[in-house]
Amino acid sequence: MMNRRYPELQTSETDTDIAIVGGGLSGTLAACLLGRAGYRVTLIDRHRVFPQEFRVEKIGGEAIEKLRRLQLLAPLSTAAVPFDEIVNMHKGHVVDRTYGQHYGFFYNRLVTAMRSALPETVNFVVGQVRGLRIGAAQQQVSILGRDEITARLLVIATGMGDTLRRDLGILHRQISDRRPLAFGFNIRPLRSNRFRHTALTYHGDGDGIDHLNLFPVPGATRANLFLFRDPRDPWVKSLHDDPKQALTNAFPSLVDTFGDFEIGSRIDSWLTDITAAGNCRQDGVVLIGDAYLTSCPASGLGVSRLLTDVERLCCAYIPQWMTETSIDHTRIATYYDDPEKLDMDINSARMTDHHFNLATKTDVGWRLRRQFHFVRRRVLYGIESISPALAAKLHQLKTIRARSALRSAVLNSKPMA
Ligand SMILES: Cc1cc2nc3c(=O)[nH]c(=O)nc-3n(C[C@H](O)[C@H](O)[C@H](O)COP(=O)(O)OP(=O)(O)OC[C@H]3O[C@@H](n4cnc5c(N)ncnc54)[C@H](O)[C@@H]3O)c2cc1C
Repeated sequence: MMNRRYPELQTSETDTDIAIVGGGLSGTLAACLLGRAGYRVTLIDRHRVFPQEFRVEKIGGEAIEKLRRLQLLAPLSTAAVPFDEIVNMHKGHVVDRTYGQHYGFFYNRLVTAMRSALPETVNFVVGQVRGLRIGAAQQQVSILGRDEITARLLVIATGMGDTLRRDLGILHRQISDRRPLAFGFNIRPLRSNRFRHTALTYHGDGDGIDHLNLFPVPGATRANLFLFRDPRDPWVKSLHDDPKQALTNAFPSLVDTFGDFEIGSRIDSWLTDITAAGNCRQDGVVLIGDAYLTSCPASGLGVSRLLTDVERLCCAYIPQWMTETSIDHTRIATYYDDPEKLDMDINSARMTDHHFNLATKTDVGWRLRRQFHFVRRRVLYGIESISPALAAKLHQLKTIRARSALRSAVLNSKPMA
């Protein structure tokens, strides 16, 4: 590795206003927004084309709303399949159907689509960043086999990779000892040319399985399975050896409800460490996305969280910082302490434990809680088929109660150190 911290650089002339290291989803979205706002932006990634890696493959709700607000929905829709109805199952029964806009995609194609929407003001550089020199007035970025780039602000969006951050003394510490395990693979219909439903979510029952999602992506039906089990667990091994058998054992009536299937691709898997960056309030450099905080894949909050980072940084803080001659650590700290960002970060961190408890706890309290949750949903669904107006009122009440519970939980919590 090239170096650690150097004395602060003095010159104020730079090649670019903002250098973003990492052109995954966070770095690319930030470059889009900043380029549109008229800044000189250099986006650096080691891959010209994002490789086929297993990450988020389905988004809905808040993430879509944020993309729409930021006018970034159009590129997503060129790389994704929209769907709006999900059949929900638990313990062999259909619980209900939920409605709302979702998109299914392969992550690499999503990043490619977002990169194709980069404005011309963004200079995309392919290269491996090997060293950083940071300071309040200027940053220097060393790229393997290329000339150094100087910038006024450095944004690190390198995902879970640790080397560059470590060079700046930014260390990731584990904030949860839960390690969610995720699997992704394609399924194909057997003895028919299509499945009975577009999308299905099958919830676990205290057996270490959080949930299984089946949903459309371009050219295929994708399965995402989220667990809290040891990777050496016999069931996990059986999932690799005979995936179809393992799935039909764990999810009764899945075939009857969704349709018979065969596995249509290799099985990707990923064990996530839930970590947060420490010592990141430094002059001239800021972290976004997984580079700052990883989230539990089962919670489905990764994209909403990274969008909060991108939106707050690019729309609220960078416009202020760019009017100053230097961006020292006190200014950088205002971004990490942004109330909206803090709410999102705390919620995302909490969700890991929540999903762990839902997926694994078998004591009477949790068994009753789960049972009550799914019985209530089934009853509501029954009411909906008789009186949609009454069901809508009950849904509204439930949402108001859930929101106020979340708000009081966040207000009573302390920010992460
Ligand atoms: C298995 C799995 C399932 C998930 N499921 C969901 C889900 O259902 N819903 C949800 O919302 N979220 C989910 N997530 C989380 C979501 O995928 C991530 O939060 C998101 O992809 C992070 O994007 P990023 O841009 O921060 O990082 P990445 O997409 O990892 O981008 C990092 C980029 O940095 C580049 N880079 C790194 N080091 C260097 C260097 N030295 N020089 C140059 N370039 C460099 C890499 O090439 C890469 O392009 C899931 C994550 C995983 C792992």
